[in-house]
Amino acid sequence: MDLRLYVDHDLCVSSGACVLERPDVFAYQDGPEQLAVVLPGGPELSEEKMADAVELCPVDAIRLLNGAGDDVTPA
Ligand code: SF4
Repeated sequence: MDLRLYVDHDLCVSSGACVLERPDVFAYQDGPEQLAVVLPGGPELSEEKMADAVELCPVDAIRLLNGAGDDVTPA
């Protein structure tokens, strides 16, 4: 399945967990709010690694989207 990671900025509380644990995948975007984003051109991650990345976020702001843009993050 064609999956990609996405950070929902309505949920991100700037905890920094994702940026700290996977700086190759996540970074803070510019601006005072320090919201995380998925770095463009980051590594190709397996589905398992993407699921691991989702688990990093304490407030479930890291989401998995399919190729159609639907949120398919496991509950
Ligand atoms: S772990 Fe979640 S809340 Fe913390 S910066 Fe990353 S996306 Fe935002």
